[in-house]
Amino acid sequence: MEFVIATNFDDHLLEQVKNTPVTTFFGGFPVSLTGGGRPPYILPDVSEEKFRSHLEKIHAMGRKFLVTLNSNDLGLKEYSPSFLAEFMKEAQRLIDLGVDGFIMAIPILIEALHREYPDVHISASTFARISTVGQAEYFRDMGAEVIILEEANKNFRLIKGLVAAGMNVEILANQTCIKDCPFRAQHLQNSSLGSQPGNAKFWFEAPIMECGVELSQDPGKLINSIAVRPEDLELYESVGVHRFKLSGRNRPTDWLVRTTQAYANRHWDGNLLDILSYVQFKGPMSAVSRIAQENALPVVNRFKEALDPLAGVYIDNKAYPAGFLRRVANTDCENMSCKACGYCPGVAEKVVKVNGKPLADYQPVKDLPPVATLLPYLGASGDSAHRREENLLKTEAPCTP
Ligand code: SF4
Repeated sequence: MEFVIATNFDDHLLEQVKNTPVTTFFGGFPVSLTGGGRPPYILPDVSEEKFRSHLEKIHAMGRKFLVTLNSNDLGLKEYSPSFLAEFMKEAQRLIDLGVDGFIMAIPILIEALHREYPDVHISASTFARISTVGQAEYFRDMGAEVIILEEANKNFRLIKGLVAAGMNVEILANQTCIKDCPFRAQHLQNSSLGSQPGNAKFWFEAPIMECGVELSQDPGKLINSIAVRPEDLELYESVGVHRFKLSGRNRPTDWLVRTTQAYANRHWDGNLLDILSYVQFKGPMSAVSRIAQENALPVVNRFKEALDPLAGVYIDNKAYPAGFLRRVANTDCENMSCKACGYCPGVAEKVVKVNGKPLADYQPVKDLPPVATLLPYLGASGDSAHRREENLLKTEAPCTP
């Protein structure tokens, strides 16, 4: 088993995970030519000097560092006559700073980089959204040595097929994205474009707000999310997957250490959410709270009310039934409605509590306005307050109490 974990560029992190199976750290600059998988406003700002010295410490421990250039959308800048040369210059700068490899999603850039630097490691990012063996073969042939799975990380037919085709598969374990997420495509593009120079057009990503609101309607959806429990890593190992990714570039050091140790121990007692990304609560709640502070708008309070119970969600990791993931792995989840199947919703009833009460007693806030109502308030340099209010009033009226 080996881990590829996020770094927040705190050198203390390195010392505290040195006795775990971490072989590789990943991270990047908040803004870069291609952009990466996270918007800049959530990432630690890191100077070139700090970046270099952090990587030197990683190397001194015998570990590697992969830089995230995993945007899936370049905003058509790639057609500019100077773009390719700028990209190659950026790649060389990063190699000079000490990176051991790249995490990337755009085929044309993977191929170009691999031709120029055939010995430099490339992992195909989750942003490539690989979901078939054939797609993975294309990425491998372009130069990717590792295929990272996120949304398909419980599709064991696919995983076995990838392993049978000789792929080195990496499973992102600790995200809580909802199954079959309809917001994902826009979210990945928002993150990609938002982390490119001159693109600071929003201060919070609307798709995460949509995800938070969706989860507020049924917190049980955390159980069939893409999260993989520490206890379930062995099922991946039994089919030939030994490389696991733990995300959290925006998390404090003690959180990253706790999460890494839980997965290294293959065991966690307590609230599973304490080691998962759980993006659906803190960010959306902070965003609506900020909007509420800056604008006297009743509609925002409806969203606050809806999101509030997510603070009290507890997933009792010890209460999961034995063989949980094996049961999911043996189900044709990609071609089945979870409502019709019912397995994960049944487990959710057993393991999820909201503010100490069983999930069956949970009453979501209903009849919310569309999340699009918040769009004018999420822009970094959007309309004037007056104009914003005008826009909001056009859409909030039917649902305002
Ligand atoms: S189809 Fe069934 S086993 Fe698969 S994720 Fe949905 S509820 Fe769980």
